[in-house]
Amino acid sequence: MADKLSAVKGMNDILPASVPRTEKLPDSALWQWFETAVRDVLGRYGYQYLLTPIVEPTALFVRGLGEVTDIVEKEMYSFTDSMNGDKLTLRPEATAGIVRAVVEHNALYNGPLRIWTVGPMFRHERPQKGRYRQFHQLDVEALGFAGPDVDAEMILMARALWRELGLVEGQHVRLEINSLGQPDERKAHREALVGYFEQHAQALDADSQRRLQSNPLRILDSKNPAMQALIEQAPKLIDFLGEASLAHFDAVRATLDAVGLAYRVNPRLVRGMDYYNLTVFEWVTDQLGSQGTVCGGGRYDGLIAQLGGKPAPAVGFGLGIERLLLLIQELQLPMPSQAPDAYAVVPPGTPLAPVVVALEALRAAGVRVVQHAGGPDGPGSMKSQFKKADGSGARHALVFGADELAAGEVTLKALRDGSGEQQRLPLADVAAWADRLRA
Ligand code: ATP
Ligand code: MG
Repeated sequence: MADKLSAVKGMNDILPASVPRTEKLPDSALWQWFETAVRDVLGRYGYQYLLTPIVEPTALFVRGLGEVTDIVEKEMYSFTDSMNGDKLTLRPEATAGIVRAVVEHNALYNGPLRIWTVGPMFRHERPQKGRYRQFHQLDVEALGFAGPDVDAEMILMARALWRELGLVEGQHVRLEINSLGQPDERKAHREALVGYFEQHAQALDADSQRRLQSNPLRILDSKNPAMQALIEQAPKLIDFLGEASLAHFDAVRATLDAVGLAYRVNPRLVRGMDYYNLTVFEWVTDQLGSQGTVCGGGRYDGLIAQLGGKPAPAVGFGLGIERLLLLIQELQLPMPSQAPDAYAVVPPGTPLAPVVVALEALRAAGVRVVQHAGGPDGPGSMKSQFKKADGSGARHALVFGADELAAGEVTLKALRDGSGEQQRLPLADVAAWADRLRA
């Protein structure tokens, strides 16, 4: 046998539930359920779908995210295109690419845009539970809107998604918010921050010492536990905000209060990218260890201009799909069954034509039906077929026996309700009873 190959470390296959696996990862049925919920919920808010390439020019992320950020400094998969020397990067996040697309296509020409996308992101991090080198995000962006109303809309959309999936806000996921103010306010805060950290220079880790001059706000985003006490006492950005920034923040809070959504103002919440201003937020959980943020976002009013577009405000969020689904899996929340409605048992020797005609008619009527398919020696015994039918989770078996076919009929057998009830049904008029098979 030839040597086996493995996936790249930190990059995972998303498998059907029936395939055993070594790493604890959500199965593909959970993904599909999530994607359906996302389409439903975002459609209710009028968001449109958009896709951008997975590979972008490296400069996009360096300029967009900020040179002194974890992502740009140490997490990007960057390479040189050997054909033409272009410097390229596998996207570590979605916002920069979306803004690039919006600017490139002058997409705000006819007014603001509400869009979403979903797909893989790449970051060279240490793989662990809830942290991978290829992971997936749902990304939602509202571009061209300046008001606090759309900030609140972002947060409420996430809440609607939690509810759709059976997660309870306040219990399974909690909301934290903060305001990063405007660049001039951050400048005043930055000076206070540098002063404070300089006084405690001996307590700073190597990363933070480096960032003290280049990007001191990033020190607040440090994941180093040894740094947390020092960070806790640091000057708070919120104390440096002017009237307009505070009014914006208050308006977001008032909307959340009005709809009864509880939140905590976390003055340490700064997010990992430089492009944010005003409102930032994270949805966090206690159930995933240190990978507790399932969704994070905020306003980025400067990014469109920074990437060459006509200045326009914007706000958005990214949701980590693996983390969210791990959470749902751990909480054992109920999800709709993915099982087929029926499993077709085809005894050895059955002529296939009438079976396939009937099954195609059932599927055309919307019934989910799996045909038992044989190996090289035929379909296998009735016993083994019924075992497969049972294992499939189907509520019914359809038995295409020789007797049945001779009478132009099929036997419908209940598999799940304990009744074992059987009934003959006419093959000539499948549409008349197809409805009864559907859940
Ligand atoms: P963290 O602080 O956990 O590193 P982050 O602030 O770097 O997260 P964002 O850039 O805000 O993350 O991305 C949005 C979401 O994507 C995160 O809240 C998280 O749910 C998910 N995410 C980020 N990095 C990873 C990763 N390496 N593996 C899996 N999910 C991730
Ligand atoms: Mg990170």
